[in-house]
Amino acid sequence: MTDLASPPLAARPAPAPQPTMARYKDRTVLAIGAHPDDLELAIGGTLAKLRNTGARVVMGVVSIPSDYETRRREAEQAAEILGCELRILVDGGTTKRIEDMKTYELVKILDDVVRETAPSAVLTHGPSEFHRDHVLVYNAALSTQRLRYFDFFSYHPNFCRPVPVQFHPRAYVDISDTIEEKMEAIAVHRSQFGDRGLPIDIYRDIARMNGRIVGVQYAEGLDVGRMLLA
Ligand SMILES: [Zn+2]
Repeated sequence: MTDLASPPLAARPAPAPQPTMARYKDRTVLAIGAHPDDLELAIGGTLAKLRNTGARVVMGVVSIPSDYETRRREAEQAAEILGCELRILVDGGTTKRIEDMKTYELVKILDDVVRETAPSAVLTHGPSEFHRDHVLVYNAALSTQRLRYFDFFSYHPNFCRPVPVQFHPRAYVDISDTIEEKMEAIAVHRSQFGDRGLPIDIYRDIARMNGRIVGVQYAEGLDVGRMLLA
């Protein structure tokens, strides 16, 4: 039966969203990525937005797997663009591969940064990544939830060349006002993109597609692992 009294769904105005990101104002948000560029690709717009809303944002990069000096410099430039603090979590001034670490070593490294920064939210890789070292970081981050309460989110799987990936966002961050910072932060990772002739516009496309889903110009999708609604 048709309800003739109701306007068509498309004509109904969407309720104005509440500024959820403000819950992290004056608090610390810890973003954990396996390598330089992972955070910028997945949540660069979200991190810049969090900083804009008054959060202290720590970008925890687990390790630099190759070309240490260049990739460290690129990571520093990107963090500066996004207005975030950069930490290289395994840093002896040299390269290190996550898969060469024991599980307990990786958990300890993430435990240490969670204890030190006392985050109100942690954003990290998700379980459906096809990069095995990204999944290792996700699993280690999962276990840090035993240390304290924080909201826990996973972000879109990363790739330099587009491939099919499983990811089902349950929450979206409107990044319409920070998309250009995101693209700029990605672009400084020249060793991964420009110098290899790889375009970065797919990350704008993904943000545009996510934005269409929620009715804004650009958005980043997150899966929600744990979140307290109060
Ligand atoms: Zn990576």
